Amino acid sequence: MSLEERIREVNKRIEQACLRSGRSAEDVNIVAVTKYVSTAMVDKVLASGLKHVGENRWQNAQEKWNALGNRGTWHFIGHLQTNKVKDVIGKFEYIHSLDRMSLAKEMEKCAAAHGLVVKTFLQVNVSGEESKYGMAPAEAAAFLEEIQKFTHIRVIGLMTMAPFEDRPEDTRIVFRDLRELRDDLNRRGVTKEPLTELSMGMSNDFEVAIEEGATWVRLGSILVGKEEGE
Ligand SMILES: *Cc1c(COP(=O)(O)O)cnc(C)c1O
Repeated sequence: MSLEERIREVNKRIEQACLRSGRSAEDVNIVAVTKYVSTAMVDKVLASGLKHVGENRWQNAQEKWNALGNRGTWHFIGHLQTNKVKDVIGKFEYIHSLDRMSLAKEMEKCAAAHGLVVKTFLQVNVSGEESKYGMAPAEAAAFLEEIQKFTHIRVIGLMTMAPFEDRPEDTRIVFRDLRELRDDLNRRGVTKEPLTELSMGMSNDFEVAIEEGATWVRLGSILVGKEEGE
């Protein structure tokens, strides 16, 4: 399948998931995850009309960003080491992986130095898997309250990664829990602005995530493919 065909197919599946759950497809944004592919392929992705690209490591993203950073909107979706914050702030408009106070402090410092506000998702480890980054759901409220003093970080929502399941349906509880956590934080008024966004759903499980309220799906293999020109 060509990139165009894959985009069409994914959009159709997004629309169907929205129909099933009474949502509007316009409320679901795609982050095209380009971590498996070359700069030439990222070029094609941006030329195809997809606006949002996601990378999970600065070392791998650097060459692509240097070539194409002024096109599209860049999302940092992977675990972010504190010493890499200075490399990504000012380049990646969205950071999906805020999960600890030391990272928030460094992000605040760098964003302030650039005179910008970085849009951020709080990464939550809903499934409790040890291999996954993210804070425990029970820690989210206190964390958010504490970082309200940082004026250069704007937390717009929550992000999670579900465990890989052979039956995507088995991930539903993880996505539902993240939505309920967001709604609960909003009811309690923990943040100045309500949290509107949910970054959840990957190639294997994005339709279930959309049915549970995802506003950003992060799609790599199913959309961009794993190798150039396949
Ligand atoms: C790689 C990656 C994705 C995309 O994975 P696919 O299964 O290929 O769609 C999404 N989110 C994060 C955080 C990733 O690292």
